[in-house]
Amino acid sequence: MEEDRQEAAGAVQRPRRLQPRGMSAFAAEPMTAVEKCSKQVWSGSWHTRPCKKPGKVQHEGKWYCGVHNPERRIKRDQEWRAASDARERHSAQIETEGRALLKRLGAAGYVDYGVRSIRVRRLVLSFDDAEKLAKELGR
Ligand SMILES: [Zn+2]
Repeated sequence: MEEDRQEAAGAVQRPRRLQPRGMSAFAAEPMTAVEKCSKQVWSGSWHTRPCKKPGKVQHEGKWYCGVHNPERRIKRDQEWRAASDARERHSAQIETEGRALLKRLGAAGYVDYGVRSIRVRRLVLSFDDAEKLAKELGR
């Protein structure tokens, strides 16, 4: 086809036609103007203005640029939550490990999961040292 050949050769420079959002008031043609991003951004203290970037993706009927793509934010939030859950599980696991060491030593104390140690009164023992001590004591 003639048109395909011209397009492949880069001879035809047509404006990129976006998904029609409505009809132009002046012509019975879908609007082809590039939609702007719908996100309101801060423009100094206490004021917002619309983002000036052209819309790249459509989300719930509104256009957004690549930076303000809500899908990206949703994905980032999910990733953050997953990482946060993983950290929490990891901390809980260390806490359990420390509690088990305290129990073996028959001591009341605290677990510092940040540095994997147990504290009994003023004595601070790393998990490794607590493990060695428990073995030494035959517990
Ligand atoms: Zn934007």
